Amino acid sequence: MVKSKVTILGAGESGTGAALLAKAKGYDVFVSDAGTIKDSYKAELVAAAIVFEEGTHTQEEILSSSLIIKSPGIPEKAEIIQKSKEKQIDIIDEIEFASSFTQAAIIAITGTNGKTTTTLLTYHLLKEAGLSVGLAGNVGHSLAKQVIEDKFDYYVVEMSSFQLDGTKAFKPFIGVLLNITPDHLDRYNYQLSNYVESKFGLIKNMDKADHFIYYKDDELVTAGLAERGFSGIKHEVSLSSKAENYLSGSEMNFDNDIVISQDETALRGPHNAINMMSAIRAAMIVGVGEQVIREGLKSFKNAPHRLEYVTTINEVDFINDSKATNVDSVKYALDSFSEQLIWIAGGIDKGNDYDLIMERVNAKVKALICLGKDNAKLRSTFHDQIIDLLETDNIKDAVRSALQYAKAHDVVLLSPACASFDLFNSYIDRGDQFKKAVLELKEEFESKKIEQ
Ligand code: ADP
Repeated sequence: MVKSKVTILGAGESGTGAALLAKAKGYDVFVSDAGTIKDSYKAELVAAAIVFEEGTHTQEEILSSSLIIKSPGIPEKAEIIQKSKEKQIDIIDEIEFASSFTQAAIIAITGTNGKTTTTLLTYHLLKEAGLSVGLAGNVGHSLAKQVIEDKFDYYVVEMSSFQLDGTKAFKPFIGVLLNITPDHLDRYNYQLSNYVESKFGLIKNMDKADHFIYYKDDELVTAGLAERGFSGIKHEVSLSSKAENYLSGSEMNFDNDIVISQDETALRGPHNAINMMSAIRAAMIVGVGEQVIREGLKSFKNAPHRLEYVTTINEVDFINDSKATNVDSVKYALDSFSEQLIWIAGGIDKGNDYDLIMERVNAKVKALICLGKDNAKLRSTFHDQIIDLLETDNIKDAVRSALQYAKAHDVVLLSPACASFDLFNSYIDRGDQFKKAVLELKEEFESKKIEQ
């Protein structure tokens, strides 16, 4: 018997996964994407005989559904969402839908920054321990697609606030909340409290037997937790005081018993100590042993564009942190280096408050290269502080000038604090173009050396 009608809005990785799962579970499935659907996803829909449309949302079709699974990219204020709400159609996220079809234990990771790093590391540690584990959410394949076969005991799931907004009964076994700093406020009526509420959606259904790992030095996190309470098992992570998991100097301490030096790991900077301690605690909860954790921390390779070392030219390291699209992540990037920095920043400002990093910039940044179409805010904020300030809208110029400013043992850091869409397609495109420009410059530099 065909079950009720489900419409999937948005056919990206999560939407296509949700459509395939819904079809496998016997629903009458319709997919609607107002943009164009990637060929690979279209092929999957066709192969599963799923009806879809692109370039439009046909209202009669959509509004005749009993359930809508919405891509996290579609805002609440979109017309089709408003109309669906008026008709009181249930609107949920793909993760909500998928998680209702699995008995596996879910480790869900959220926060303004650090989600991908922590998710990948947690997955890596569990996998190295030989556990049966899937990787889902914003990284890897959609949870829905994996739940069709449902062959894992654990899923490690990266969750944004937009995904959390679409949850109702979602109940992770372990929830990780890394931090909350102002971001995406345009989607939350410019109310920080709405964004905090969204993040705490992570723990709303968790109970006594569940675990909540959180960064306790973050005031919004601790205040939010005090307000809401949590009946399960709490695990604090701290950079500043003793806790179940805390950093002292460069040593990560666990239960005042196990000590792991950050120098023996693949990740640098205090922010990555938070990410690592959270991932390690999650691994410990599911029984991963100390030796596997130590080895896993060494062998871990993070996703690109996050404090990614590119190369060294004339004793100057080039670092690609293109994913740093807000001020908080730049703060941590600046804290990750003891060297003098040539800082490349700029793009589309999301209401940045640079006061948060003014002291650090004064202490560490010797030259600022503003890379954007409109650099007025960066320029007016920093022109008194930084004597060497240059503006460009060309990444090759930016890289070349950075090398000119740098002396041996300085670091050139692309950590933009802004979105990329003025000059690039995405942060990935920006990071890739940066790496390309750096490697070309290196080639040029070395061929000149040979000629000399
Ligand atoms: P997300 O998936 O939440 O965007 P990533 O792991 O991709 O997080 O990192 C995004 C950016 O944030 C990078 O520039 C990184 O250096 C910075 N970052 C990573 N972890 C943290 C953290 N715990 N706190 C603040 N910034 C972080």
